Amino acid sequence: MKELLPRNNTKRKIIHLDMDAFYASVEMRDNPALAKKALIVGQDPRKANGHGVVATANYVARQYGVHSAMPTMKALRLVPKDKIAFVRPNFEKYRAVSAQIHELMYELTDVVESVALDEAYLDVTKNKLGVYSAVTLATRLQEKIFKKTGLTSSFGVSYNKFLAKMGSEFAKPFGRTIILPEEAEDFLAQQPIEAFPGIGKKTQEQLHSMGIFTGADLQNLDVKFLIERFKRMGYFIAQHAQGIDLRPVNSTRQRKSIGTERTFEPNIFDENIALTTLRKYSENLSKKLKEKNFLAQTLVIKVRNNNFETVTKRSKLTKPTNDAIEIFQTAKELFKSVDNFLTQGIRLLGLSTTDLQTNQYEEISLDLFTTE
Ligand SMILES: [Mg+2]
Repeated sequence: MKELLPRNNTKRKIIHLDMDAFYASVEMRDNPALAKKALIVGQDPRKANGHGVVATANYVARQYGVHSAMPTMKALRLVPKDKIAFVRPNFEKYRAVSAQIHELMYELTDVVESVALDEAYLDVTKNKLGVYSAVTLATRLQEKIFKKTGLTSSFGVSYNKFLAKMGSEFAKPFGRTIILPEEAEDFLAQQPIEAFPGIGKKTQEQLHSMGIFTGADLQNLDVKFLIERFKRMGYFIAQHAQGIDLRPVNSTRQRKSIGTERTFEPNIFDENIALTTLRKYSENLSKKLKEKNFLAQTLVIKVRNNNFETVTKRSKLTKPTNDAIEIFQTAKELFKSVDNFLTQGIRLLGLSTTDLQTNQYEEISLDLFTTE
């Protein structure tokens, strides 16, 4: 009954890269004393009325059975008190490290789909380095990440996303797994059904009750039966069992920022001139955003004084916008935080926006509703 399945494509080269215990590893790197502890990134429940969940646990904590998303109270019960350490998550820091890692990925390809701060798919079928072997590329990437950040990662390489992901899970930490097209069926046959994506707790139980425990068991099942029993999900399980996953790697790379900056000769000492300039920039930015059908999410102001000291300040808007007045309001607030630059004379002033979003709520042309 395999004819019900789509034709496989084994020509692509996909890497799934996943940082090992990411938040915890960053904290241990920055404070090595934590490495000997069962480290839990999350608020200490003793200081939070018993509330909170584990964001990430290091491998020591995992040996005590602690895992992400577990209530911190439970973690506290599992680990001896003299062994446990809590660190509050510092997402700003993790985002900065994530950006460093992504820069290294973009050296290989722009077709990078970020799933989380610490996890991404890369399609390197065509890549910027012209290297044929995805394994060579992934190994180099893993080494470069370690050199640059001091952090370890694991990767899986295969011809589709779900196999690449299974690969990176398979050999953690600091692992590498390569699943070639001709090996996929055997690899999958040996996996427990828990390792397959999309098979949740409930489905696991149902499959177990039918005597299905491994990929081999799934492979032997009739595709039609899986579809009838589990509908759409059954169809995907059947595909996965045969190593089929045709989803593309969707590039999530942020588009370049849009903005304006200008050098002033003579320098600006007058606040009104600075604000008038920012107002013009805001109008200009609004126009460009509307032309390209984007909304601004974060505004960035850049100021340089006569001593060539430069600061950039950014502010995340509560609601994405392309409205000139809203942009100007935020630009003005940002400027107030750096207006001490006026005493030195402002040499350069810039306003830009990053993390652009596609405007999904574009106003519908009224023409649609007018009749002859
Ligand atoms: Mg990870």
